[in-house]
Amino acid sequence: MSTSLSRRALVRTATAAGLSSLAAPTIVHALGALAATGRHGERSAGELLIRGGRVVNADGVVEADVRIVETTIAEVGRSLAPGAGARVIDARGKLVLPGGIDPHTHLHPGFADDMTSGSMAALAGGITTVGTFSTPRQGETPLAALDRMAATVQAEAIADVILHSAVWPPTDELIAMLPQLAARGQPSIKFYMVRPDFGAQMEMVVRVLEAAREAGVVTMLHCEDGALLAAAVRRLTAAGNTSLEHYIESRPVIAEVVATQQAAALAESTGAPIYLVHMSSARALDACAGARAAGLPLYLETRPLFIHLSEEKLRGPDYQLYVGQPPLRPRADVDAMMRGLIDGRIDVLATDHAPWTRAQKLDPALSIARVRPGASDLQFMLPMFFSEGVGKRKLTLPRFVETTSTNAAKIFGMYPQKGVIRAGSDADVAIWDPRRTAAVLAVDDLSKSDYSPYEGWQVTGWPVTVIRRGEVVVEAGAVSGSAGSGRLVERQPWRRSST
Ligand SMILES: [Zn+2]
Repeated sequence: MSTSLSRRALVRTATAAGLSSLAAPTIVHALGALAATGRHGERSAGELLIRGGRVVNADGVVEADVRIVETTIAEVGRSLAPGAGARVIDARGKLVLPGGIDPHTHLHPGFADDMTSGSMAALAGGITTVGTFSTPRQGETPLAALDRMAATVQAEAIADVILHSAVWPPTDELIAMLPQLAARGQPSIKFYMVRPDFGAQMEMVVRVLEAAREAGVVTMLHCEDGALLAAAVRRLTAAGNTSLEHYIESRPVIAEVVATQQAAALAESTGAPIYLVHMSSARALDACAGARAAGLPLYLETRPLFIHLSEEKLRGPDYQLYVGQPPLRPRADVDAMMRGLIDGRIDVLATDHAPWTRAQKLDPALSIARVRPGASDLQFMLPMFFSEGVGKRKLTLPRFVETTSTNAAKIFGMYPQKGVIRAGSDADVAIWDPRRTAAVLAVDDLSKSDYSPYEGWQVTGWPVTVIRRGEVVVEAGAVSGSAGSGRLVERQPWRRSST
């Protein structure tokens, strides 16, 4: 491979040859030689015709052309003729997929990325919509926090964005606010079951879930039991074993299992839509089988770390780089997570993109009681999943699209505006070269994180052209797009019939 985004260091400048005339806020990452085309980021209107590709949606694959007019898909069909002045993109031999939707990233203060750098990594990896969290500061209401984060989206984002309100504690005020979150087009909240007082607040948690069901608000849950985790840390600390070498023991799988059982019980008891983030173990997956078989709206997400890496990494060199919540699990769990995505027991693959620098992760002050969990994943999630799943396992192309775009669009109230290539939908499109090979290299990661847990991983299949609402934002090895061109997506409240 020669010209993909990876392999060769990207020039992190907007003043590369041919680009210096672009408006100041325009962000361009380009290989110097390729940047000389000078075409990136200029075109956002008119007609774009993607010709000769194989269009993949969750319901199948068809040979078709895709006509984009302004920001919207106008037509999908055979042998479409370009209109006057249309730009034609030759997609012969390529796959034409809906832009990826990653509902779970951390592009908020506290992490290495801002919404601009996070957007660039996402777009380079074929993801056109990202979800991140709106967390109220001391004394700030969830609605005020949402307004603050919406302003950040408007100033910084290039990808489109959805916001989940990370709120605690559960209160009557929160219950009263849920319909307003839905009215503002951001109908999702997140609770962390790892909180030491989660159990003590259970009665109010149930009341919030009942109100969330009525308001069409999806509740995301981090499923690890805080009391069991605290007990593990207390025992290890008493024995003097506080270093991250003991990280696996500090977060036992039973803490995930019991929290997941409780989440499934809450789904059954309240009927509220509940979305479990970053599932990591076969036992947790099994704990959801009954609720899902009963048709309850209990949605499951896993993340790349859990389908590619096993807990041996936490026992090897630079093990601190692999610390996440939950921790990496044994190989059997890794296989279970990949199988769950392939066979439909898991709905969504999301990054949980949590960008840190290598120095931050290796900070000797960290311990089992004080961690910096997670890793950068936005740029490489889709190519790696494509390569490992479609290339080496029995993951079909429609199922790839379903788990990386369509399901998230449906669960979070964006379908069919997003998550499908269809007339009337937003023109969010990733054109993939299924044969392009490259290695995952941190030096190519547009995230401000400076290492990758997958360094050197060989991948076949990369998005080569990415279009966000009709604007070509990745092309010929370059990422372009103005900070602030991303939009906060106006979402619909959750409805049972929509998933
Ligand atoms: Zn997260």
